[in-house]
Amino acid sequence: MSDDVDVPESHPRYESLLTRHRIEAGVDMGITSRQGLIAQGRGEAYDYLLGEETIDSADRAERAAAAYLLSADHAVISVNGNAAALVPGELVELSEVTGADLEVNLFNRTEERIERIAEYLKQHGAEAVRGLTADGRIPGLDHERAKVDADGIGDADVVLVPLEDGDRAEALGEMGKTELVVDLNPLSRSAQVATVPIVDNIIRAIPAITEHARELHEDRDAQRTAIDSFDASTALTDAEAAIRGGA
Ligand code: ATP
Ligand code: MG
Repeated sequence: MSDDVDVPESHPRYESLLTRHRIEAGVDMGITSRQGLIAQGRGEAYDYLLGEETIDSADRAERAAAAYLLSADHAVISVNGNAAALVPGELVELSEVTGADLEVNLFNRTEERIERIAEYLKQHGAEAVRGLTADGRIPGLDHERAKVDADGIGDADVVLVPLEDGDRAEALGEMGKTELVVDLNPLSRSAQVATVPIVDNIIRAIPAITEHARELHEDRDAQRTAIDSFDASTALTDAEAAIRGGA
């Protein structure tokens, strides 16, 4: 992680303080919503209980997610205001390694915020960012919540949705899409409806998926194994046990 905060790296809660700082800066830059501050607080509480580390079942989920992204016909990484504030460069790198598109997709949608996030991703190396066309709809959601790019998320067979709202996660699943969800709360509906629930902090999860993708890149058999050996309900049960029982 970079040194964009005035806290020594040796501080025992360095990562957590850096995360808060990035979300706060995201709000100041107009890329993160105020709701995003509240979501971050919830996430942090779960992360604290998980021991602020990637548990084994989350690592298996990250590997399965990498395999799904690599073997997709059309994979899209959905980016909201929290994801953009926390891991902009890491999302761009994941998209480069897997060939997945980046699409800005907001719960509290404004054109201005979408443009700012797209611009921010470009500053971090993205070449193309979808989400501004918004000519597709997710069935079963009200108008503003339903907007996506027809040739982006609308057309995708695999979607990575970090910190997605439960309703939209459910609606995307009903469209038959394979959903890879990053969410620290294993009881959240988003995690519950995911094909691959990744119960881990996005700060650790995105680089981990990229690492797995690099390793699985040319190995179709290993991709198959990562997908076939992954079980979503076991992953959710493991995460809940880690949170309730302590690691
Ligand atoms: P629902 O059950 O309807 O999904 P919710 O409380 O989960 O309700 P969301 O808007 O989906 O509502 O909340 C955002 C989710 O993102 C929370 O579950 C929170 O734990 C998670 N979250 C927040 N910050 C992070 C982070 N840095 N990494 C991973 N997950 C995070
Ligand atoms: Mg949720």
